[in-house]
Amino acid sequence: MQNGDQKKLGIALVGLGGYAGGQLAPALKQTSDCYLAGIVTGTPSKIDTWKSNYNIPDKNVYNYQNFDTIKDNPAIDIVYVVLPNAMHAEYVIRAAKAGKHVITEKPMAITTEDCDRMIAACKEAGKMLSVGYRLHFEPYNLEMARLGTKKIYGNIKKMNAGFGFPIGDPTQWRLNKKLAGGGPLEDVGIYCIQGFCYTTGMDPVAVTAQEGPKTDKEKFRDVEQSLAWQLEMPNGIICEGNASYSEGMNFLKAEADKGTFELTSAFNYSGQKGYSPEGAMDLPGVNQQAKQMDDFAQAIKNKHATPVPGEMGKRDVKIIQAIYKAMVTGKRVEIS
Ligand code: NDP
Repeated sequence: MQNGDQKKLGIALVGLGGYAGGQLAPALKQTSDCYLAGIVTGTPSKIDTWKSNYNIPDKNVYNYQNFDTIKDNPAIDIVYVVLPNAMHAEYVIRAAKAGKHVITEKPMAITTEDCDRMIAACKEAGKMLSVGYRLHFEPYNLEMARLGTKKIYGNIKKMNAGFGFPIGDPTQWRLNKKLAGGGPLEDVGIYCIQGFCYTTGMDPVAVTAQEGPKTDKEKFRDVEQSLAWQLEMPNGIICEGNASYSEGMNFLKAEADKGTFELTSAFNYSGQKGYSPEGAMDLPGVNQQAKQMDDFAQAIKNKHATPVPGEMGKRDVKIIQAIYKAMVTGKRVEIS
């Protein structure tokens, strides 16, 4: 490790868009085990503001062409890929080849084949790989996982989740299948899938799915506007998910033998609200991204596993692919 066990690890953010600028970089001012050391951008006009806001020296500024030379920079320990979905695989593999630990944003990639290549590249380089699953560090979602997996209210009988928002700019990459991989399922539906898995403690074995109507055929010519799916868990329970680029929703609900526990505001950066048969949950608010990045830095320093590894990212990509297959074929698709 370049900076020594006691020092903060240096993170370089790749792709200075909404999430990197709005959430990750500010969170890196609150982290204890890592800090924003470098940036990788294709937009030179962004550089000066980032340099002055985060005190980044010229030698730690890269573009997509000279990115591979980051291998010679000991100030960068971790590369965090915050690019459009279809670009994650290339930059994770290049980062691993440059000898850096890597965090990739969700969804990890568009295909499981790419996930395999990403995992293999990090393994070969002897570097750690994690996915930006911030809710694994958020108290209300952790409480859902505790209540579900410890069976505090008995066995879960059924789950429901929905995440959606009305999407704006019709020209953005999220509506371009080549860059996004798909529509709201890739972008926000993945949080419902995650919620089902960490609340039940199980991975699904089969799925059925139905595409919603397209009320704006031009805007949604490339990707689905909305989608409903039903995951079948190994014990037979059904988890019903909904993702939408036209309807606002944000919830995670589990019905168990002895009552219902749920988050009515589940997946945002803050402001979670939750209820159990005991009443309203009262848990601390945290900076999810700061906790997520600190946990990864600690995992590297202390050589322990990350709770959100590449293998989990691959599992979710496999589920997403099965959901799309079920949507297109209208058939029940098994997830092996
Ligand atoms: P933005 O569109 O806001 O930013 C993406 C950035 O990627 C751009 O600003 C640009 O940065 C760079 N880029 C390089 N090539 C392209 C290209 N061909 N088209 C568009 N941008 C390009 O996206 P977000 O920041 O919202 O999302 C980035 C990733 O983060 C996605 O994978 C998304 O799923 C994930 N995300 C995760 C969230 C979470 O809560 N975990 C929340 C939001 C997003 P530059 O100009 O510097 O080159």
